[in-house]
Amino acid sequence: MRSTSPELDAGELISFRTADGVDLRLRRVGPADAPAVLLVHGHGVSSEMFALPEIRNVTDALADAGYQSWLLDWRGSSRLPHNTSGRPYTFDDVALYDLPAAVAQIRERIGDRPLFVVAHCIGALALALSMTGGLLPGLAGVVAQGVFLTPKVSTSARMRVLVGSELMGSRVTHIESDFRKVGLWNRRTLLYAALSRKGDCPDPTCRMVHGGWGMGTKLFEHDHLDARTHDRLADLFGAIPLSVLPHLRQMELAHAVLRWNIDDERYSALPQNALDQADRIDCPVLLLSGSRNAAWLDSNRLCYEVLSARNPGVDVRYTEIPSYGHLDTFIGRGAALDVFGYIVDFLDETSARLA
Ligand SMILES: [Zn+2]
Repeated sequence: MRSTSPELDAGELISFRTADGVDLRLRRVGPADAPAVLLVHGHGVSSEMFALPEIRNVTDALADAGYQSWLLDWRGSSRLPHNTSGRPYTFDDVALYDLPAAVAQIRERIGDRPLFVVAHCIGALALALSMTGGLLPGLAGVVAQGVFLTPKVSTSARMRVLVGSELMGSRVTHIESDFRKVGLWNRRTLLYAALSRKGDCPDPTCRMVHGGWGMGTKLFEHDHLDARTHDRLADLFGAIPLSVLPHLRQMELAHAVLRWNIDDERYSALPQNALDQADRIDCPVLLLSGSRNAAWLDSNRLCYEVLSARNPGVDVRYTEIPSYGHLDTFIGRGAALDVFGYIVDFLDETSARLA
């Protein structure tokens, strides 16, 4: 296992196993006896995206505002072995097993204190599937960054997911983000040539991160990153298992969060289409997006419009962060000033209404 930041090592570490036997972990940082916030990372990165020591990160901002953070590493974490060596999985498994198990672990320890969730990207898609399946009742409030119930990507990204899906059944099982692990000449070089867009950045790993998980679009605004963060992108990003791509493609084509395992009884708790069960969302929702989110475009604005029109009973609001892209809303050097205030205000306002 690679090293993590000292800040994370200082927190309380809880290892737990999901009902289908996958070992995950949670780390708690911030004040004791405070309202809790579960932080759910995107795919191919890890909980470290919320706790970069080189910037004022979201756990710092939450602690100062009187909230404790619970950093989950779900099965798609770049810091856990399951993502690269475990059996293939889809986001159904994250929604059915990982998120409910994490919430149960936290609730065991916080009693009846409020529990919020802040989720990014694929983490927010899985959260949408869990919540509309009624698997996470009684949350105090939810923040979804980039995407929630209505995934939408650019045409070029859609083509790249298609290319990736076509590789299923070949010997390629993962898309690496680290250029050093691929090298200049091996079997997969042609794939990377296809996936990596000719970016402006001279760092090949940065181009691969964008070409892989960014699917050819910008994952973040370069100017928003601290140089130290940019220098260790290869460490922050892990591999992407191809097993998730058909599910992702299906959802994106439908512009809706869908269950993949339709004929498998084990997954019957999950809705076939999360949007059709949006009325099961029982807490306030803040949809966040950078105005330049190239990964999910205006998915969250669309989600806001759809929910407002179809589910007037759901308390939903939308905040757009000017000039921000996707991942820089959490890993950007200025995110504490530009982004986290919206999250804290939402948590404070929702807490006040609960009191
Ligand atoms: Zn770069």
